[in-house]
Amino acid sequence: MEREALLSGLVHPGDRRPAPGSLAVVQAFVNTVDREHGPDLLDDAAGLEEWLQRHLLPAHVRPGDLERARALREALRSLLLANNGERPDPGAQDVLEQAGRRAGLEAAFPPDGAALVPAAGGVDGALGRILAAAFAAMLDGSWQRLKACPRDVCGWAFYDRSTNASATWCSMRVCGGRVKAGAYYRRRRASGH
Ligand SMILES: [Zn+2]
Repeated sequence: MEREALLSGLVHPGDRRPAPGSLAVVQAFVNTVDREHGPDLLDDAAGLEEWLQRHLLPAHVRPGDLERARALREALRSLLLANNGERPDPGAQDVLEQAGRRAGLEAAFPPDGAALVPAAGGVDGALGRILAAAFAAMLDGSWQRLKACPRDVCGWAFYDRSTNASATWCSMRVCGGRVKAGAYYRRRRASGH
């Protein structure tokens, strides 16, 4: 995938529409890598800085930030795989809670509605905004429809607007069709998903 496509957050296989509201930033963050073909925007500080500038706010990447950003991204992806019937990663909760503490997430009560806001600046604070968006979506119920594609080399985050929230693949054409005849599909069918 083109680097610009990852930066824009506008690529949605299967002609899906992006996640609603602030949940779209969570989706875009998880989709900062094309796991099958590359690139990975979080391979270097410049990629993370450019993504933050486009989607949240400018922040200077300091030592350790990149590793924490990647860990948070993959912890979020594991939750999105769990939304798709996969086994949850037991380490994900810790990663999210540590990121929340580093961001200094605080409850705010402005007239237009309660929210979590980061007290920290820099990349920690920016990652906190992503966490706050995920947190809000978990409370309003939209979170359950944000899923990661279960084809192992894919993992793309997509928003499932199907009536029964029954979509499995990022795109039937891209991933669904490729695995349908394969072992993964048979295993998933056998396990009742
Ligand atoms: Zn996929």
